Amino acid sequence: MKANLFIVEDEMPIVTLLKYNLEKEGHKVNYALNGEDAIRSIKDQNPDLILLDWMLPDISGIEVCRNLKRINLLKNIPIIMLTAKGEEEDKLKGFKTGADDYVTKPFSQKELIARVNALLKRAKPNAVEDVVIFEDLKVDRAQKRVFRGEKEVELGPTEFKLIDFLIKNPKRVYSREQLLNNVWGDNVYVESRTIDVHIRRVRKAINIDGKKDLIRTVRSSGYSLDG
Ligand code: CA
Repeated sequence: MKANLFIVEDEMPIVTLLKYNLEKEGHKVNYALNGEDAIRSIKDQNPDLILLDWMLPDISGIEVCRNLKRINLLKNIPIIMLTAKGEEEDKLKGFKTGADDYVTKPFSQKELIARVNALLKRAKPNAVEDVVIFEDLKVDRAQKRVFRGEKEVELGPTEFKLIDFLIKNPKRVYSREQLLNNVWGDNVYVESRTIDVHIRRVRKAINIDGKKDLIRTVRSSGYSLDG
């Protein structure tokens, strides 16, 4: 079980604790300390789930939530609101803005992790299952093996990560920058044509025996896994 999570929270001790506990669960965790930075980074990184604090120094968590829900590519990312406010009214306001779940501070780490995992599973089974299937392509994460039909496909480590990432959200188009951030990591310098090279290798590896091309190139946008 592994997903890309994003924390928006201005209190660093809470970020540190959450990050530590969620990384221990195998998730990749990025964060922002205010709303403006959060929106910018979330656009780049396209995370699987967002933990969003209500009270932020610039724009409120509610405003961040509302902003994200307006963006087509981002509106389906599940959001858990974190807040010190426990009142029913605020809770309702949070849900109305599109938050998927709601945790009141102080919360236990164990409870939060359980909610994160439950929401991930519900929202995006492909992000967390050990074996993921799209059409006749099968990615076995536990064993790090990929199959097209009955046949096992040989992939290098980067190609495996690419296909593992794309299959989380079939048909969704990812820009080269999003692929870069999610597959190579944030602090790695890779030229965009390097991404094209790896995509070409994935294509060559999985499009075997005259089977149809499962990688779609979207001109000037990026790539998706598509049938
Ligand atoms: Ca806060």
